[in-house]
Amino acid sequence: MAWLCSRVAFRTCRRTFLSDAVKYKAKNGIPEPLDLATGIEKRELLAAAAGNFDPYHMKALEISRDSTRESPNLVPSAFKSRIVGCICEPDTSHVNWMWLHDGQPRRCECGHWFKLTEVAPL
Ligand SMILES: [Zn+2]
Repeated sequence: MAWLCSRVAFRTCRRTFLSDAVKYKAKNGIPEPLDLATGIEKRELLAAAAGNFDPYHMKALEISRDSTRESPNLVPSAFKSRIVGCICEPDTSHVNWMWLHDGQPRRCECGHWFKLTEVAPL
């Protein structure tokens, strides 16, 4: 009897889920990923739909070779600090990693300057 009750309860839950809005937006019976996604995944999918395929600013930046403390290379960040890797010379095989903190321009060992710029979080 207990097995029968749990089976009935499961069917009731499943029926309730299928009658939600997902059912009406489904194409050919398969819901779209955007309809099923929630939270950060949904915001990533919405950003990609809007044409933003780098919502976390992870792509490598072209840096200015003539950067100074007054006009540094700007690194976008939604946080107060970020790790930055500088490829000091075009032919080098290693990356020089350093922390950048908000409001404090920092100079790499090779002479390039970097500074955080605030961007809105995803
Ligand atoms: Zn460097």
